[in-house]
Amino acid sequence: MRKLPPHTSPTSSTEAIAARIRDAVVEHRLPPGAKLGEVALGEIFGVSRTKVRQALIRLAQEKLVSLQPARGAYVAKPDAREARELFDTRRVIERVLIERFAAGATREQLSSLRQHLQCERQAIAAGDTALRNRLLGEFHVLIAQMVGNQVMTDMLRELVRRSSLATLLVQTPRSASCSSDEHASLIDAVLRRDAIGAVRLMDEHLAHVERDLKLSGLDGEALDLRAAIKV
Ligand SMILES: [Zn+2]
Repeated sequence: MRKLPPHTSPTSSTEAIAARIRDAVVEHRLPPGAKLGEVALGEIFGVSRTKVRQALIRLAQEKLVSLQPARGAYVAKPDAREARELFDTRRVIERVLIERFAAGATREQLSSLRQHLQCERQAIAAGDTALRNRLLGEFHVLIAQMVGNQVMTDMLRELVRRSSLATLLVQTPRSASCSSDEHASLIDAVLRRDAIGAVRLMDEHLAHVERDLKLSGLDGEALDLRAAIKV
């Protein structure tokens, strides 16, 4: 069972435009450093520059977009320090979450997490990089949702999105499948109610993801915005 983000608002609303760009960023169809031209985006979505700008401002508040005076908008590109701090914060939050999850996870929650794991594996096997990147991140947010703390869930969702800008940029199918294997081990530890083991596994997992950081970005590469946003 994969929870898709709500796309219920009209396609021309600010939030709908922000959501389309956000998805493209999180799935790495738009790489860190990619230029987000207001005119080009306005044409793609068939809306005014003002509306595009509002969407970009919203994404800038989420730290997914960087607005540079006189230069315009770019997909944010975390530097090494920011990436370290993102993972540092994730570790603090996710240790608590996995510990609580191990203590209280229901059978239904574990089964729904296993279904998510299946989706991850299918995306990896199919070579669907965009879906794979999104699902690997959503696994972590799903645990937060299941623990049931909305504030931590919202914080983690933002942290996962932002750290996806710093990771997986050139993630190989092999490291993606390692990540998914580690998700499976986490589920097993929770199933055994092994809170200490689950916290250790989460620490190791986040360390592996962080170690694969590639902050090189793809500056200057020509990018087909329309294709990236899939309009
Ligand atoms: Zn993970």
